[in-house]
Amino acid sequence: MTFRKSASAALGLLLMLSVSAALAAPAVPPVDGALLRDMISTLASDEFEGRGPGTAAEPKTLEAIIARFKAAGLQPGNKGADGKLTWLQAVPTATISASNRSPLVVTGGAQALTFKPSSEFVAGSYRMTAQSEVKDSELVFVGYGINAPELGWNDYAGIDMKGKTAVILVNDPDYAMEGEQGLFRGRRMTYYGRWTYKFEEAARQGASAALVIHDTFPAAYGWQVVESSWSNAQHFVQTPNDGADQTVANGWVQKPVAEAIFKAAGQHLAALTEAAGRPGFKPVPLGLKASLSFDNTIEKANSHNVIGILPGKTRPDEYVLYTAHWDHLGRCKADASGDDICNGAVDNATGVAALAALAKMNGAAGRTARSQVFLAVTLEESGLLGSEYYARNPVFPLAKTVGGVNMDALYAGGPAKDVTVTGGDKSELTAILRKVEGEMGLSEAPEEHPERGYYYRSDHFSFAKRGVPMFAVERGTDLVKGGKAAGAAISDDYTNVRYHQPSDEYEANWDMSGMKQDVRLFYRLGRELANSTAWPNWNPGDEFRAIRDKSRAKAAGN
Ligand SMILES: [Zn+2]
Repeated sequence: MTFRKSASAALGLLLMLSVSAALAAPAVPPVDGALLRDMISTLASDEFEGRGPGTAAEPKTLEAIIARFKAAGLQPGNKGADGKLTWLQAVPTATISASNRSPLVVTGGAQALTFKPSSEFVAGSYRMTAQSEVKDSELVFVGYGINAPELGWNDYAGIDMKGKTAVILVNDPDYAMEGEQGLFRGRRMTYYGRWTYKFEEAARQGASAALVIHDTFPAAYGWQVVESSWSNAQHFVQTPNDGADQTVANGWVQKPVAEAIFKAAGQHLAALTEAAGRPGFKPVPLGLKASLSFDNTIEKANSHNVIGILPGKTRPDEYVLYTAHWDHLGRCKADASGDDICNGAVDNATGVAALAALAKMNGAAGRTARSQVFLAVTLEESGLLGSEYYARNPVFPLAKTVGGVNMDALYAGGPAKDVTVTGGDKSELTAILRKVEGEMGLSEAPEEHPERGYYYRSDHFSFAKRGVPMFAVERGTDLVKGGKAAGAAISDDYTNVRYHQPSDEYEANWDMSGMKQDVRLFYRLGRELANSTAWPNWNPGDEFRAIRDKSRAKAAGN
């Protein structure tokens, strides 16, 4: 009896809760499907030539985005040098092409070792100088090249790297683990495992050069990928010091090259690799010196980000971001039919269309407490340069930017039962995501390849690395109609046939219902953040928490 009574009371309470939850779930304005189609078909048309930054397609693309922002009631988000409001932020870039590459020469052992550029090692510079030369620079093995105070880990402990060359293992000490436990989150890639981090940290340590040891399994790609990407021109945002705080040269060596160098030093790469995986590892000077040189051709250019804002009603000096890159590859390698336009319909005309749709929905729904910023960035495909430039030169202070939603590649097809979260549970944004998933009746699917580090490879990362927590979520692959098989078919077709190919094109028969679901999810996530008083932080132990704590404390005047 008591049991029945309490059970029915509990049931009544449950019903009340679910009724009130349903009532409390905020209304979502309709997603304008015609707008999505129009924006995608326009931006991905042959007339826009694949939206290469700096080409004739750039002004057309910027105009199309600005027109949508204006129609949605957004205000221009930037101020020009003349003090007038403008929709644009100029993004000055530099492209460095190396030539006349010398061999890598290592001296100090029984005999000098000489290694060939391209096939045995690659190197380039982040400094805008006509010539790069590293001469007789002492080689130091620095393990994984990680300095993570929050984890009590410092591979540079007790060494002054000034003038020296860091020799660094790829990935992080946990990469071979099965699960995601461990100091460096097991097999999940962390920022410390990315090669970009390793070059940044070597520069912070004052090193002259940094050489990463390539190894196919932990790098997840073969030498030919390293060789071809480092043989091409490298793209950067211009900085006031022209990269003077960077190393003279960054590069990669083949594993057998590293083994030969370690042998000449009387060491074993395998033994030192094992030592580098243990806490308390100390850097090991190899007693050898490295020399290499190459020439650089530097080309400067300009592209543009588009920035629109809906000012907040009560706390306009707090900002929530929506970001999507507008650029794509432009003219590219022709396919069998002779089509040489990489239209970038999915990547990322869809994200820009979603940005425009979200501007319209938020414009119609009325202002939120915090300001909402709509940012269409350039040069993502060249290495996240537009978002990097914005984050280095923020129009709205990053310490006052609560967080945001990045959108990169939405798929045609039907709605899903789940949401895929890139990067996993990194921050208190997870609680907001779970709330919205609950409202929308969506489950959460783990990222399929946490070891690939996708979280560090789109525009949200330019903000995350400076402490601003960002959602990187997308519609999952368990579709309402057809389940996982249907979802996998769509994603396999994209990955294998269309990704970065002329065939990434819009088709009039696209089913837009899934994309509308994506936009509703993004709307709710952004809206939730923009009406909240919370400042979601990174989880304790996360690689970006310390920088957020620091910038927030500074903003609060502590
Ligand atoms: Zn993209």
